[in-house]
Amino acid sequence: MANSIWTIEEFTCTGCSMNYTATREEHTEAHVGHFKCSICGSVVHSWSGKHHFFGWQAVKTKPPVFGRRWAGVEW
Ligand SMILES: [Zn+2]
Repeated sequence: MANSIWTIEEFTCTGCSMNYTATREEHTEAHVGHFKCSICGSVVHSWSGKHHFFGWQAVKTKPPVFGRRWAGVEW
């Protein structure tokens, strides 16, 4: 644990308001990445810098408004 710092951060999807948490890990080298919402496909967060995000999880305590958002989605 001495050479890695992990912090949990929370993000909200701009497309469907789904909440996600991710673990932020500090690195000595730059990383570029992004995470797309598993529900609507919007980019929830993109990053570049000396850190990386992993372990994305949907937060189930506040469900999105399925009825409105899913009404027009063709599956
Ligand atoms: Zn979304």
